[in-house]
Amino acid sequence: MSANVNTIEKSMPEAVPSELPYKRVLLKMSGEVLMGPNEFGLHPETVARVARDIQEVVDMGVQVCVVVGAGNIFRGVSGASQGMDRTAADHMGMLGIVINALCLQNALEEIGVQTRVQSAIRMDEICEPYIRRRAIRHMDKGRVVIFAAGTGNPYFTSDTGASLRASEMNCDLIAKGTKVDGVYNADPMKDTSAVRYEKVSYMDVLTKDLKVMDATAISLARDNQIPIAVFNIREEHNFSNIVKGEGTFTIVGD
Ligand code: UDP
Repeated sequence: MSANVNTIEKSMPEAVPSELPYKRVLLKMSGEVLMGPNEFGLHPETVARVARDIQEVVDMGVQVCVVVGAGNIFRGVSGASQGMDRTAADHMGMLGIVINALCLQNALEEIGVQTRVQSAIRMDEICEPYIRRRAIRHMDKGRVVIFAAGTGNPYFTSDTGASLRASEMNCDLIAKGTKVDGVYNADPMKDTSAVRYEKVSYMDVLTKDLKVMDATAISLARDNQIPIAVFNIREEHNFSNIVKGEGTFTIVGD
């Protein structure tokens, strides 16, 4: 391992304030976030609001990378349940992720945030291929890197893609933006007595099947000791709040 590699991995922009708990954060959001109040597809106002939330964190001097899913467009399992070949359906799901990534890139660039989309499936005319060292370099320069096409493999999810990229990027945190403000002991949408955990262990998420992320994603985050902050991304400013360690969220850790 050369000194050069360490320099690439550890170098951070000078602007990072030392008091912030996190220096490099991966934001994971499901595709459904981007459809806002609609039933399907993309809701431009919501995408623009998410872009502003990301900008707030970039402006704090924190390095940001993003993984989106494609639940607003197509999920492989639903295609397979209707008789499609699972691999073909998953390829379609991954292409849906690329659509979402390009939409988010456009919204970020409209407000002056520099971005790069890197896809796990090559499509050179549209975006960069995934290259780890190049992604780190982009973030060092203050660019937001949007990782598209999940892991590039069928039978995986974008949550697992998020854990994988967060591990490769040495992220300090996975910020998992959801519909609710943390992890509960029951579904808070259905059960009014549901209680939110402040902190929950990776093991509890796995053994109690707490629906934070799928088991592969949780195991990977656990193996690489990356905490996961589960928060409500539907409310403005929540992303920057959790990066400051403020607001309401659940931390998944040891
Ligand atoms: N997908 C895949 N491999 C991956 C990531 C995603 O095949 O590494 C496909 C899979 O079909 C999945 C779809 O892309 O259903 C969209 O991802 P996901 O369901 O995780 O999206 P989200 O629920 O986060 O919106």
